[in-house]
Amino acid sequence: MSTEPPVVGAIEAGGTKFRVAIGRSHHLLADATIPTTTPAETVAASIEFLRESKHRVEAIGLASFGPLDLNPHSPSYGSITTTPKPGWSDTPLLEMVRGSFDVKVAIDTDVGGAALGERTWGAARGLESFVYLTVGTGIGGGLFAGGRTHHGLGHPEMGHVVVAQEQDDSFEGICPFHGSCIEGMASGPALRARWNHPVVDLLDRWEVWDLEARYLAQALRSITYITAPERIIIGGGVMRQQGLLQLVRTKLGVELAGYGPSELVDSDLEDYLVAPELGQDAGLFGAMVLAQQSLAT
Ligand code: ZN
Repeated sequence: MSTEPPVVGAIEAGGTKFRVAIGRSHHLLADATIPTTTPAETVAASIEFLRESKHRVEAIGLASFGPLDLNPHSPSYGSITTTPKPGWSDTPLLEMVRGSFDVKVAIDTDVGGAALGERTWGAARGLESFVYLTVGTGIGGGLFAGGRTHHGLGHPEMGHVVVAQEQDDSFEGICPFHGSCIEGMASGPALRARWNHPVVDLLDRWEVWDLEARYLAQALRSITYITAPERIIIGGGVMRQQGLLQLVRTKLGVELAGYGPSELVDSDLEDYLVAPELGQDAGLFGAMVLAQQSLAT
């Protein structure tokens, strides 16, 4: 019997693009990027890529933007639910993919998928508990604990935690639901709205990144105290700003104010708050892990 890892398909469903790949272990055999337009068009193109490949996939993993219905007992399990993204609410993503293949198809959130990718091949190898947080077009976080990504009533929505308005900031926030939650205050679109410039024009302005780091540190304090992770991996487009990660570590140290486990408060947080090792590929590789895991059950 062959011990070679199975060939699997992976779809990372994002708000601006879908990434589709076929791989074995963490080696890509083929991949493609498809712009996110309508559900019918984008999902069909993803399915076609996997079907037309010369490689036969034994399972498929989906890591998708949300919110998602991840209750396995729900009739709409695997659907994108009430997203503000036009045309995508109530998209039965899992069902659409399942209906086109005769193999197992597994689904998780984009950040849950990225967490699985980082735990298998990246910055969370060997950890029992950690958080994967992305700061980009939106802010989202996945919690890995107890051997799996955590789902309960829905999935964690770490991008919508409350932050206190900083004294030198009058911006009201852009979250359509909450205004000034962390996503409303510190996502890429929030930066653009607060400073009235595209983010590329803000790179040299220290006050922009000082304020950004203070808001992120507030959210990371809540995430730290509520989930007690061994590590937080923080990625996404906004975190590519030079020096921002170190600035956030410094501000998080201030936020914790000496309270918490000694591994945190007596450290420089360099091992606690880290960049993803898989970079922009964490979600895609995570979808491959989902597919591989589905074959093991
Ligand atoms: Zn919100």
